[in-house]
Amino acid sequence: MEGHELARVQRVLDSGWVTTAGEEITALEKEFERMTRCAAVALANGTSALHLAVKLVGVRDGAEVVVPTLTFAAAANAVVYENGRPVFLDSSPSDWGLDANLLEEFLDRRARENRLPKAVIVVHLFGQCADLDPILEVCRKHEVPLIEDAAECLGATYKGKFAGALGDIGVYSFNGNKVITGGGGGMLVSPQADWVAKARFWSTQARDADPEGLRNYVHSEVGYNYRMSNVLAAIVLAQLEVLEKRVQQRRTVAFRYRDGFADLPGITLMPQAPDRFHTNWLSCFLIDATQFGMSAADLIRFLDAANVEARPVWRPMHLQKAYRQYECIGGRIAEDLHRRGVCLPSSSCLTEEQQQFVIARVREAHFKAKGRK
Ligand SMILES: *Cc1c(COP(=O)(O)O)cnc(C)c1O
Repeated sequence: MEGHELARVQRVLDSGWVTTAGEEITALEKEFERMTRCAAVALANGTSALHLAVKLVGVRDGAEVVVPTLTFAAAANAVVYENGRPVFLDSSPSDWGLDANLLEEFLDRRARENRLPKAVIVVHLFGQCADLDPILEVCRKHEVPLIEDAAECLGATYKGKFAGALGDIGVYSFNGNKVITGGGGGMLVSPQADWVAKARFWSTQARDADPEGLRNYVHSEVGYNYRMSNVLAAIVLAQLEVLEKRVQQRRTVAFRYRDGFADLPGITLMPQAPDRFHTNWLSCFLIDATQFGMSAADLIRFLDAANVEARPVWRPMHLQKAYRQYECIGGRIAEDLHRRGVCLPSSSCLTEEQQQFVIARVREAHFKAKGRK
């Protein structure tokens, strides 16, 4: 929290609009419409936004949707909520995002077989966009809608363009672990205003106008309670004022780690594609076990014992029990990134002193491991 959160929440409490409607929600949507030049609807969280995105593109029984296998589970879950089938694709080692060449091969082949997937979901991992131009080009060629899961990369850009606003639908999250937060909350954006209107309709229990002119609850479709709270919207609005600062803080953390490990072999910061602005939402490093002296898994255990919370890079979906039954194209790159990747403490409230402690422990791990040999 930074500055105006409390004042904005106080205003909501004073107004009595402690509900899923109110001025703060409208103002937050307006802000996103300004930033993304899309229509926007504020939702309960990123996962509900993904669910409605999948529903908007028409996924239902058995429809296939391309999802990168290296991802947080929410994108794959959303497909299954609508009884769709994810088809997992491998990542590119150059940015860890969906492999554009593999996607092109896959969609070209599926077009020849006359069984194109219903949609492609691209997930922008750890604060950096996947390579959107070739991904968009092949999706356009085959008229397959592209959903951007931009939950981890608010504030990132691709060739100067706002991440999450380049495909047919974009999804953001304000979960407690993201760059800015409302303690929850999400946003769905799209250049197609009618889609956003439909998502808004579904998110508020799919209530139709009452033909009798009373206030009857009239439903022609099944709806959801997916709307954002006005209280959360107030917090997120105040947080948006410091989005750039938060992004700079995350980047500072990542580059301080990088500099702190500059003389160590076998530990390298996640690639930073030159045509993209990477927020480094998480500071991720790849470990070469031979050079570093210790595997990523052993480093995580070592840090754990020193009271430092580190984590592996996402475990690929095709290795998860819940998703093993689905097709996966490739997967070796994702498996390698998972096996060798480490996410270090990355919060914007991490003090320099705390971070120096983490850096010292990583250095200690390396020198101990090497000293034993
Ligand atoms: C956090 C996250 C989500 C889910 O957002 P919630 O607001 O937590 O539901 C979806 N996708 C990715 C890639 C995420 O990191």
